[in-house]
Parts: sequence; structure tokens; C-alpha cells
Amino acid sequence: MKKLLPTSTAGSLPKPSWLAEPETLWSPWKLEGEALSEAKQDALRVSLQEQLHAGIDIVSDGEQTRQHFVTTFIEHLEGVDFTKRETVRIRNRYDANVPSVVGDVSRSKPVFVEDAKFLRGQTTQPIKWALPGPMTMIDTLYDGHYKSREKLAWEFAKILNQEAKELEAAGVDIIQFDEPAFNVFFDEVNDWGVATLERALEGLKCETAVHICYGYGIKANTDWKKTLGNEWRQYEEAFPKLRKSKLDIISLECQNSRVPMDLIELIRGKKVMVGAIDVATDSIETPEQVADTLRKALQFVDADKLYPSTNCGMAPLSRRVARGKLHALNAGAEIVRRELLG
Ligand SMILES: [Zn+2]
Repeated sequence: MKKLLPTSTAGSLPKPSWLAEPETLWSPWKLEGEALSEAKQDALRVSLQEQLHAGIDIVSDGEQTRQHFVTTFIEHLEGVDFTKRETVRIRNRYDANVPSVVGDVSRSKPVFVEDAKFLRGQTTQPIKWALPGPMTMIDTLYDGHYKSREKLAWEFAKILNQEAKELEAAGVDIIQFDEPAFNVFFDEVNDWGVATLERALEGLKCETAVHICYGYGIKANTDWKKTLGNEWRQYEEAFPKLRKSKLDIISLECQNSRVPMDLIELIRGKKVMVGAIDVATDSIETPEQVADTLRKALQFVDADKLYPSTNCGMAPLSRRVARGKLHALNAGAEIVRRELLG
């Protein structure tokens, strides 16, 4: 990206109320069949238009065609039975009734490739596409087949790599893997988490990113955050391995978080997507608040490697709030851009 401080979002944006119940995760679709397919494409167009109108530089599909950032991808795979459900603890935080791995997992057809081609056809701006990371995927399933978190993660990494290569061929500029689980399972991150993620991006020529956050602004996550104390040092655990990894970009939660900004020093040399928009509150940041976070990050990231972004996805927010936050992000980045360019 030639532009200084190019803006982007972590991924998801609210869906229109004619497509799915607003302000809800896992919201059921309101249409079906051909009408649903058309409506998803229309929503993708609207979502793109809102990003462009707000001045967002690196755009996405707003995740309009998926119900959930992990579940929808897994639904398209073989080997997982969605009718056979077991209760597991997700990210050590809350119990959920999840599908079971019942056989070898595989991808018999592309998942998001047609959507990516459609988005590519709508804009000449750089596009970023989000996929779940292997560790976050295994954490949303009951595995009665491989009976090994690591083995299942390697299998998912191979599948993600197939999808990523086709997304790249479809014209995606940045492929992002969402790994909120990296903030929870530190030993596994270091033993095989980063390694499986690198397997997922093997052979890619486009840029790659990993998004590590403290989750959507839902109650289970905000309650968990209250237990983390005054300083959130979780990133410290994965950063040394990530610095040595082949990933180009690390996407982080920085706005209103208690992450000490100097931790970013540990990934010096990487591009950093700095979350300067809090997705766990309806109050819309002022451009000055966004600029303030970016200035703090600039102490530890070179200006040409700083990518202003959001803390996480904005799917659970109202469209009005999300729209306001997109505009604030761009206005805040513009303040700092002008300061840097003198
Ligand atoms: Zn996130």
C-alpha cells in the first residue's frame, strides 16, 4: 500500500435487517434459496459502499455472506456433523453446544471463492479476506475422531491453505486468519499454533495477516476481560514466535484495551493493524481519540507499517454505530497522516 496509514476493518460489519436479525451473533437468515443468495450479494454491495463512502482504504466483504466467522467455514467441510452436538468450553470462557468431528476433515469445494470474485468485480481498492485460523477452528468443535487438538489443527491448516490459494487467485490482496485463541492457549500457540498457521499460508504470494483480539463485544467476553487485571500482557506470549514467522501483518486490539502499547516493540519489523475503534461499546470515538491511539502506537511501529483498523468485527453493532465508527477511523487516521506529512 503506497498510501500512508491505510485504513481497514477487522472484518465483519452489521447485516441489513432484511437479511438477518440485527445486533445478534449467529443470526438466522430471513430468506432462503435463490432469494437468499441474491440478498447476500446485495448486502455485500451495500457493505462495500459504506466502507468506500467512509474512506476505508483496504475493503472487505463485511462478512455479509456468513453467519459466523468460524462456523460458516466449517459448515462447508466434510467430516463434521452439525447434528451430532456436544457441550465444550470455548476459549476457556463459556460453554457452547458445538458440532462433532466424526471423520477425516476435507474441503470438497471452495467456500468463499465465488464471494471473493464477486467483491473483486465491484472495486479496484485493495481487498482483504478473513478466514478462521486453525486453532480457533478446533476450539469450536468436539473432536471424537482425531482425539488430538494438534492433529486436527494440522488438517484444518491444509484445508485453509487450499482455500487461501484460490482466494489469492481470485484477486484477494491480503488474506487474514482470525486467531483469538492465540490470546488463551499460550503453550499450544508456541508448540504448534504458529506452525499450523504458517502451514495455512504456505506458498501464498499475497500478503498475509493474523488477527488476534479479545473477542466481539458480547457479555462472555466483556466479563472475561474484567478478570484480566490492569495490564493485559497476553500478546507477549505469542509475539516472539510471530515476529519470526512468515506473516506480514499482525492485527491487534488497542482501543480502550489494557494492552501495554510497548508490547508492539516485540513484533518490530512487522506491519501492525492497530485497533483504534472499540467494538464493545456503542459510543462512537471522536477522530481525536482515534488519532491519540495511533500516535501512541507510532512510538513502536514505523509509520509506513502502521495500518489503522478496528479492535475486532462490528457484526453485533447497529448499522448507525458501525457507520459512525468507520467515519471516525478514517478521520482519525487523516489527522495523524497530516501530522506525519508536516
Ligand atoms: Zn476479533
